[in-house]
Amino acid sequence: MNNIIVTSIDYILNWSRANSLWPLTFATSCCGIEMMQTVASDNDIARFGSEVFRGSPRQADLLICAGTITYKMAPVLIRLYEQMAEPKYVIAMGACTCGGGMFAETSYSVVNGIDKIIPVDIYLPMCPPRPEALLDAIRKLQEKIKKESITQRKEFLEKHKTHFINLHTENGGQNEF
Ligand code: SF4
Repeated sequence: MNNIIVTSIDYILNWSRANSLWPLTFATSCCGIEMMQTVASDNDIARFGSEVFRGSPRQADLLICAGTITYKMAPVLIRLYEQMAEPKYVIAMGACTCGGGMFAETSYSVVNGIDKIIPVDIYLPMCPPRPEALLDAIRKLQEKIKKESITQRKEFLEKHKTHFINLHTENGGQNEF
């Protein structure tokens, strides 16, 4: 009986979380323009409960990282992520964010994938992803949240701990914060 009650509460909580994801207003380059377009009336992100973009990480539970992250920007991204309310989720939007994109081989200053520094739930690797693709990523995140138990979430976060150390050792240990 207890299991039934706990499972039902989990289901309701997850359903509520999935349908009221509040994104942090955060973009560093061209992918950000597509993210802004997603909020416009043509695409109507409000259908999925995510139209409330917040200016403060303390009021947001979804980080859509839209754009290139440089080593200089990395500590800021980590700080914003850590200031967000739990449970919090991350969509890596764009090839640059997922793996460095066109800068992966050629630039000394770009982090080759934000999953080296924060846990990523959904990868959206295009250049740039269109608003429809971002909406699809949000739908996929919603499905993930609905199925995930608290234990599974803890295991996910444990497995994807932030790795500051990687950031220091990558690039020959030359990265300064
Ligand atoms: S993936 Fe393409 S559009 Fe997005 S930030 Fe990188 S270069 Fe710009």
